[in-house]
Amino acid sequence: MEIIREIDIEQRSRANDYVHEVYELVKKRNVGEKEFLQAAREIFDSLRPVFLQHPEFMHNGILERITEPDRVITFRVAWEDDTGKVHVNRGYRVQFNNSLGPYKGGIRFHPTVNSSIMKFLAFEQTFKNALTGQPIGAGKGGSDFDPKGKSEREIMRFTQSFITELSKYIGPDIDVPAGDIGVGKREIGYMFGQYNRLNGGYEAGVFTGKDPNHGGSLGRKEATGYGTVYFVDEMLKEKGDSFDGKTVVVSGSGNVATYAIEKAVQLGAKVLACSDSSGYIYDPNGIDVNTVKLLKEFDNKRIQEYTKFHKEAIFYEGCSGIWSVACDIALPCATQNELEETDALMLIKNGVKAVGEGANMPCTEEAILTFQAKGVLFAPAKAANAGGVAVSAMEMSQNSMRLSWTVEEVDEKLKTVMKNIYASCNNAASRFGSPGNLVVGANIAGFLKVADAMVAHGIH
Ligand code: NDP
Repeated sequence: MEIIREIDIEQRSRANDYVHEVYELVKKRNVGEKEFLQAAREIFDSLRPVFLQHPEFMHNGILERITEPDRVITFRVAWEDDTGKVHVNRGYRVQFNNSLGPYKGGIRFHPTVNSSIMKFLAFEQTFKNALTGQPIGAGKGGSDFDPKGKSEREIMRFTQSFITELSKYIGPDIDVPAGDIGVGKREIGYMFGQYNRLNGGYEAGVFTGKDPNHGGSLGRKEATGYGTVYFVDEMLKEKGDSFDGKTVVVSGSGNVATYAIEKAVQLGAKVLACSDSSGYIYDPNGIDVNTVKLLKEFDNKRIQEYTKFHKEAIFYEGCSGIWSVACDIALPCATQNELEETDALMLIKNGVKAVGEGANMPCTEEAILTFQAKGVLFAPAKAANAGGVAVSAMEMSQNSMRLSWTVEEVDEKLKTVMKNIYASCNNAASRFGSPGNLVVGANIAGFLKVADAMVAHGIH
């Protein structure tokens, strides 16, 4: 008995030392990349019990390999504005891991884009894509180009210039980009057109998130938001609860937020507030998602204009105030690190029961720990928002088969994927000693799939 305990202590300390040493190495190699290090730290903390049960992963250097991208491509994007002036932006594509399939992940156009943000997103994508159970690897790309205030033609010229360089590195069996912040079906259309022009063919499977009239999948635009709500619903069901009759706050009013609002309302909830980068609106009668779509999807207006259509709604300047609105369920769907510890404490004080991350890494580490310590149900991004990439993988399948599924078929498949992701996160959490902790469960379940494939494919 004594000997077994000693072995156990020795193995535990070997696993801890390994995780610690690799994290120090990652820190040294990625100096100043705070978002990437934040994402790595969260994964590392969850993985200690895995190395205890799977010492072969230490032997194979899986943690060192999984935290080093296959390659990071950076490039100059020169483009001409409507007055003929030339501008230069920086383009990125991080091809992180292709152990499970072609690199797959969105492209973001936003002035905050930098190497750290690209790497954190591509790293998270590695685990998220594995969780979907589909044959896709992980990547992410983008540019520090700001589409706000640009004309349609400027956006087209920039996007064409961006893809002219990136086209050398992508392809239906190599790397399949999609949209993200600032990149919707219009930009994907320009990228697709330019790629085909350069390659002299029609490679439907090289991008996802295309217009459903031109090779895209029905249900893709709704998939991330709907998927987040399906995942949170699974989490609530486990406790005998549901969205029905609940109050909800959703940050953002872009693609993910809009369809999270729509699905939450369809499931019987009342959404009290949503936001954009200038501030938030509170509507005591419940947010009307059709007005949000009208303003944001079709007209590119500020969310403040919602109050013109709904007289009882109030606009508040500044986005973080949205977390002071009392609600049962909070769905941060805007951007990374938008919900901090003080916001978490405020939500808890006001009685929040569940939080689901629609955006990537919207809650800081401290906020997550605060929710968990107070027993708030917490759905982490890499599981909860995997519905978008899951339907992207379905778009790839439809493109390969040259046929289209109905929106109902896609939605049914999405529901099944989200249920399965929930089950595998929940099971992994229990199996590795943290029952109910979906952060740990998602990290471990995603890691195991990629790590197994990496061991099977040999050292490279
Ligand atoms: P969009 O560009 O469609 O929307 C982003 C929204 O967030 C906009 O309303 C924007 O406002 C708002 N916003 C930006 N910063 C803030 C802030 N600090 N506070 C409040 N609102 C803010 O992007 P998506 O909806 O596609 O993406 C949102 C998040 O979801 C990102 O983290 C993305 O990586 C993630 N995600 C997206 C997927 C997808 O399928 N689209 C898939 C998985 C994850 P404004 O208009 O003023 O800029």
